[in-house]
Amino acid sequence: MISKVLIANRGEIALRIIRACKDLGIKTVAVYSEADKNSLHLEFADEAVCIGKASSSDSYLNISSIISAAEITDSDAIHPGYGFLAENPYFAEVCESCGIKFIGPSADHIRLMGDKVQAKVTMANARIPLIPGSNGSIKSKEEALAVAKKMGYPLIIKAKAGGGGKGMRICHSDVRLISALYTAQSEAQSAFGDSEVYIEKYLENPRHIEVQIAADNYGNIIYLGERDCSIQRRHQKIIEESPSPFVDKKLREKLGEICIDAIKSINYTSVGTIEFLLDDKNNFYFMEMNTRIQVEHTVTEELTDIDLLKLQISIAAGEKLKIKQSDVCINGSAIECRINAEDPEKNFLPVPGKINFCYIPGGKDVRVDTHIYSGYTIPPYYDSLLAKIITKGATRRKALKTMDRALSEFIIEPIKTTTHLCREIINNPDFKRGNYTTVFLDKFLSKQE
Ligand code: ADP
Repeated sequence: MISKVLIANRGEIALRIIRACKDLGIKTVAVYSEADKNSLHLEFADEAVCIGKASSSDSYLNISSIISAAEITDSDAIHPGYGFLAENPYFAEVCESCGIKFIGPSADHIRLMGDKVQAKVTMANARIPLIPGSNGSIKSKEEALAVAKKMGYPLIIKAKAGGGGKGMRICHSDVRLISALYTAQSEAQSAFGDSEVYIEKYLENPRHIEVQIAADNYGNIIYLGERDCSIQRRHQKIIEESPSPFVDKKLREKLGEICIDAIKSINYTSVGTIEFLLDDKNNFYFMEMNTRIQVEHTVTEELTDIDLLKLQISIAAGEKLKIKQSDVCINGSAIECRINAEDPEKNFLPVPGKINFCYIPGGKDVRVDTHIYSGYTIPPYYDSLLAKIITKGATRRKALKTMDRALSEFIIEPIKTTTHLCREIINNPDFKRGNYTTVFLDKFLSKQE
């Protein structure tokens, strides 16, 4: 039983978690930084505690402040959301040692999957195909050159502790490989405090396909279809949809079954996502596993009508999965556009500032998860996600048409956002045909320059 959840996050995901708790009859505690005094999550939660100054390291990443807030409010669980401490095994351990339930998997599972090199070894043991690459981390330029000689270019250098596309470099030659090795290592060191990198064959024109899973503490595991997250700018997702226009029933079942086997083999519990790259011959390769709720969980919720947050909380509360695999229906289509406070004309520079007027789209088949309102000031300290628009339809064509309408209604004055770009993408003839890969958006943007 969980009776009070502290939400160690902000923005739209904090609201999303509060809503799920309310539906479950669970009390909520919001934590906030001094920069978030006027945020809605404080209003909507039952209690709110200020945990420090504006910078993330003083607030949303400050483990002792968050644990103190949980203790003084008598919270029996903490939901980390995504980002911040969501994939920090030490935080999960501290929660458990203080007798507070961490809503997510065990610290050991977070640690295992957080180390991408180790995660690959684990998945290979579970017989999931891997992208060919180095055996473990690369320590020197000689080792990097030896991998290149064996595999040939193009290659991609990736951070062992990676996330958010940081520490990633694509290389087409020995000269580039050596310089990229040093820059990737130093970028990884400053982003993750861990400079270790590894090398993979760079797949040209793949699709990013990820499978949502949920596993309880009693060995019950389900998969909830796939999401296609191939519309990315510099390896960061902008539009996601489910089902993927590229995945048929047979492939979906194959992917789902191998994910269930892998999850079973490591005794993982909670919700989670296994990410793959898919080539044009339907070969799929494991990329990484995220051990948290993802930004784009919403498309799966709209498609399957299953509330993933409630599912995640009920698993943490020790409940059995009530949904069987045969209850998961993949009918119709759902799509999400991320609306970021970024200026596409200035190389997607984040543009914090005051929203003088905001109108949020609505109507049938439109869901908007957002924390913004007229008069809200976007602080410069955190990520630039303002809203997620999710539309659904009996067909992909209908979901896209509704998305076009919803995007056309969104007003966020005077902030520059990615709304118009999303509208251009969903109206692009190739995108409409489902004919796109992970390189689609960067090519699309370079044509516009
Ligand atoms: P992060 O955790 O930093 O987001 P991922 O491993 O999830 O990194 O990769 C992010 C994106 O980078 C993928 O969706 C894909 O577009 C691209 N990418 C990663 N590895 C490869 C690869 N080996 N070949 C081609 N593209 C890749």
